Amino acid sequence: MKEYCGVFGIYNSPNAAYFTYLGLYALQHRGQESAGIAVTDGKRITYHRDFGLVSSVFSSEHLDRLTGHTAIGHNRYSTSGASDSPDNIQPIVVSYKHGQMAIAHNGNLVNALELREKLEEEGSIFRGTSDSEVIVHLIVKSRKKRFLEKLMDALSQLKGAYSLLVMTNKKLIAIRDPWGFRPLCMGELNGSPVFASETCAFDLIGAKYVRDVEPGEVVMIEKGEMKSFRIPGSESARRSQCIFEFVYFARPDSQIFGRSVYQVRKEFGRRLARENPVEADIVIPVPDSGVVPALGYSQESGIPFELGLIRNHYVGRTFIKPQQKMRDIGVKVKLNPVPGLLKGKRVVVIDDSIVRGTTSRKIVRMLREAGAKEVHMRISSPPTKWPCYFGIDTPTREQLIASSNTVDEICSYIEADSLGYLSLEGMIEAAKGSKCEFCTACFDGDYPIEVPDSIVEQAKKE
Ligand code: AMP
Repeated sequence: MKEYCGVFGIYNSPNAAYFTYLGLYALQHRGQESAGIAVTDGKRITYHRDFGLVSSVFSSEHLDRLTGHTAIGHNRYSTSGASDSPDNIQPIVVSYKHGQMAIAHNGNLVNALELREKLEEEGSIFRGTSDSEVIVHLIVKSRKKRFLEKLMDALSQLKGAYSLLVMTNKKLIAIRDPWGFRPLCMGELNGSPVFASETCAFDLIGAKYVRDVEPGEVVMIEKGEMKSFRIPGSESARRSQCIFEFVYFARPDSQIFGRSVYQVRKEFGRRLARENPVEADIVIPVPDSGVVPALGYSQESGIPFELGLIRNHYVGRTFIKPQQKMRDIGVKVKLNPVPGLLKGKRVVVIDDSIVRGTTSRKIVRMLREAGAKEVHMRISSPPTKWPCYFGIDTPTREQLIASSNTVDEICSYIEADSLGYLSLEGMIEAAKGSKCEFCTACFDGDYPIEVPDSIVEQAKKE
């Protein structure tokens, strides 16, 4: 199961569920399939979860019923679509010998299948198919005595990406895997600790960003006291923060991995302009992810920035795919060129990535139909050649156009006059912060953790 998600948590605050609702609203871009909130009043965990966007999952009646001072929430996107089981919706809430527990997980484990098999052989029963359930079972089954020890025991068996919030009736715990794949930020709201995948969630509720949860760190809050621990063995893990968060996934108004997404993304555009210059009349972005790098490209090259393509923001995943003969409607329902603006112009189009190549091809055709004289495609990341197994939704290697085609071949496929990508070195240089080391596996195949064949095969089937 490939998942990418957003998590939010707040400790000891009035209106905990309402703040979590707002936090999830700000993190909606990280998952649109389902949403959920679990809240505790210190004695009992209650929750509400369903398929759909945050706005449709929660009504004010739901929020009124979610009484308590500590809460966690989750937005989920998985590739398996609407047929996905409701049992996979998070937070997962369970009761076990020592009480109740809720967890919200962002990321993918590469040894989930292996761990699940072992647990099932030992008699564990799973409700859903998500990796996250494995974590709950490992905690509950640990033979250690205290909760923190059980948790550490479980975490030290996990391989892969996990930014995790765990809530019991007494504790809130925020955890980031030793590699640091996915972001997890810590903030403060009127003295209450808050956690979120991205800082844009803090901005909405008026919380102050304090710091990132460090790779390999477990931050536990109990009786109002915050303590920090290290996952055993985490020191030796190679720091591997996902660079694709900067390219596409995170919101530009967020700060992740200690850097402003906006600044990094704009620098990608500037470098792209230096590495791949072209004579043209206007620079236009493919909205939304191309907007910030296109600004960088325009400022660096001196070519004017225009909004040549307008996006309809209300097209969801439920859009009914048109039949073959109407297939071009597929991209037009989302993006439409501004009439008159492109006529006779030499256009540089900026997008963040080419995955299968179908979007770029349709965009180039659309721009030519709208009168563009030349269409030069520029991509603010290197060619995407390898699938992600750590929480970004990518197709199999066979479906990634850059895995088996040269830049020239891709250029002819998308029918552009020229095509240029940002270099790997340029991208890393632009994203670098004081402590940034990245996972760049989707571009160079250098996976920070060995990916078992079973996971590669499973991804092909999905
Ligand atoms: P494609 O038509 O398959 O080449 O898709 C390229 C488009 O998908 C680009 O406009 C990207 O902004 C967008 N994109 C890149 N990565 C992802 C992702 N993981 N999920 C959804 N869209 C993506």
